[in-house]
Amino acid sequence: MDIDRHSVALFHYTLCNTQGEELETSRGGEPTAYLHGAGNIIPGLERAMAGRAAGDTFSVTVEAADAYGERNPQRVQRVPIKHLLFKGKLRPGQVVQLNTSEGRRAVTVIKAGRHSADIDTNHPLAGQALQFDIEIVEVRAASAEEIAHGHAHGAGGHRH
Ligand code: ZN
Repeated sequence: MDIDRHSVALFHYTLCNTQGEELETSRGGEPTAYLHGAGNIIPGLERAMAGRAAGDTFSVTVEAADAYGERNPQRVQRVPIKHLLFKGKLRPGQVVQLNTSEGRRAVTVIKAGRHSADIDTNHPLAGQALQFDIEIVEVRAASAEEIAHGHAHGAGGHRH
């Protein structure tokens, strides 16, 4: 079956920036599962997935606007260091987790002081065009429960 609305696809990916540097890969681990048409993955990648079948491999370049969005220079703020989760010493350029009232999110350290840090709360991949190398591992029909929840369950998906 082809990837369509209400299908769950499992895929491996390698993500590179436009300089060809590898940023992330699922290869060597378990494939990622997503529910097609539910906005589980970035829009540019979801569009490129439509109509693919198990065994397909392809590369796609996704512009920032269809990936994690453009970078907003105003999303820089100073926060107490105790709100950040990190190991070792805090360094500029480091991506750490920020505890917020809506949960944890990845932020980039700009400057670290003794008690506070300047952080960039844009998504670490905002403003970047991204290149994906994709291998579709499996395509199956989504269960009624997955459609109701708006995400994939089981291996590579949500477990709850
Ligand atoms: Zn669920």
